[in-house]
Amino acid sequence: MLRVAVVGSGPSGCYVAQSLVQQEREAYVDVLDRLPCPYGLVRYGVAPDHEKIKSLQNTLRAVLEHDRVRFLGGVEVGSRGVPAARLRELYHAVVYCVGAATDRRLGIPGEDLPGSWSATEFVSWYSAHPDAPELSAPPGRGGVPAGDGFLRHVRSAVVIGVGNVAVDVTRMLARGPAELSGTDMPQAALTALSAGRVADIRMVGRRGPSQARFTTKELRELGALPDTDVVVDPAELALDPAYADPTGLPGTQRRNVEVLRAWAEAPASGGARRIGLRFFLRPVALLAGAAGRVGAVRFERTAPDGHGGVTGTGRYEDVEAQLVLRSVGYRGVPLEGLPFDAAHGTVPHLAGRVLRAGAVAPGEYVAGWIKRGPTGVIGTNRPCAKETVTSLLADVPVLVSGRDVPADPLPLLRAAGIEPVGWAGWRAIERAEAELGASLGRSVVKLPDWESLLAAARTAAP
Ligand code: NAP
Repeated sequence: MLRVAVVGSGPSGCYVAQSLVQQEREAYVDVLDRLPCPYGLVRYGVAPDHEKIKSLQNTLRAVLEHDRVRFLGGVEVGSRGVPAARLRELYHAVVYCVGAATDRRLGIPGEDLPGSWSATEFVSWYSAHPDAPELSAPPGRGGVPAGDGFLRHVRSAVVIGVGNVAVDVTRMLARGPAELSGTDMPQAALTALSAGRVADIRMVGRRGPSQARFTTKELRELGALPDTDVVVDPAELALDPAYADPTGLPGTQRRNVEVLRAWAEAPASGGARRIGLRFFLRPVALLAGAAGRVGAVRFERTAPDGHGGVTGTGRYEDVEAQLVLRSVGYRGVPLEGLPFDAAHGTVPHLAGRVLRAGAVAPGEYVAGWIKRGPTGVIGTNRPCAKETVTSLLADVPVLVSGRDVPADPLPLLRAAGIEPVGWAGWRAIERAEAELGASLGRSVVKLPDWESLLAAARTAAP
């Protein structure tokens, strides 16, 4: 028998578990998660209106319901829960699939002004993440509850960054109640977004249109939003040398440029909202406006440097915004007890095997964003998980020889004061969310806080 702990129940953790039980009939896998709910960013990152991508939960569910896979929610690994060293004693192998839990910083003046948020905070709020800043505003934000703080008195918003997360938050700001009420977003976010009157949203890239990170399908969705004009300045697009003739670009970039060109040439339809896509502007400061909240973003105009990067031109432009969402990528955080490459925000590894001081640490593995950084789509995690599992299975003789691990680590976790939320607890949360939705005249509505999630989980039969 091979006992493996997978830490993290997002796509990469689930794909690791799946690959393990498919390839090794003797493998028993516990999938641990800090949260009482599984699915990681599929539940707490994929935009609520992307129902098709969210339906991937059904595939991940089948993995977690496999006979030799067990979900143990509400279990934190690290100094505040089960130390990494203890986990190593309880299992033959541990695979860390903990993702990239925080956001990159801009490192510019004014970044922490009230009204400036990371896209991660905004996404967490409308996705009902129990750690989202609605319940207690982070220090330094004047104690403003985030639900109000995000959107109150906001007429213009700036989204910094041109990746798929930037497109997600831009789209969510522009959507109206008719489109949002059918989603599973929490009621408070639905109310705040429905009442919001953000008329102008600018999504701003520091490089050119041919270097934007969004994918074409996601970009096109902006053009399909009701009552919304997408505005692109052809002169700004033309600053990109690849704009005149995009035929040499890779497919996604070429299609992005074509979509942007069509928008630049289309007349505005006079919609109630405007999404402006701006390029070659790098943020240099957030400027305070009324009541000390953010009032504008100062950008420096950039120019291509001929090597895929940009240089500053010394010309500046202030863009009004009462809400700034910094969408400049995620960043991995160190997990106590594991080595960490701070420059890349990842755990050093060799084909998924954790490296300690440059040498393979048998029994410890990584997969997903903590292994390769926050890039790629959900499907990218499949081959990534497979590579890690191949390494792990090749190590099995070393992992099992002379090592006794408990037949079942659960009683030992309980003895240490850890009471995991099992699959029955998670199913009880799902039922509570369906009941909440029915009571509000909506379909499923997510529970947004720890108390209600844990209370729902406790209603499960033991
Ligand atoms: P991303 O794709 O890495 O995009 C980050 C953006 O921030 C880039 O435009 C980058 O510009 C910009 N940026 C970085 N540092 C900056 C700075 N200091 N000042 C100004 N701009 C800066 O990150 P993401 O949007 O967070 O997405 C993460 C991953 O999740 C991606 O692989 C994405 O495709 C995936 N995702 C997919 C979907 C979907 O498939 N629907 C949805 C959401 C996320 P530069 O290029 O110039 O560095």
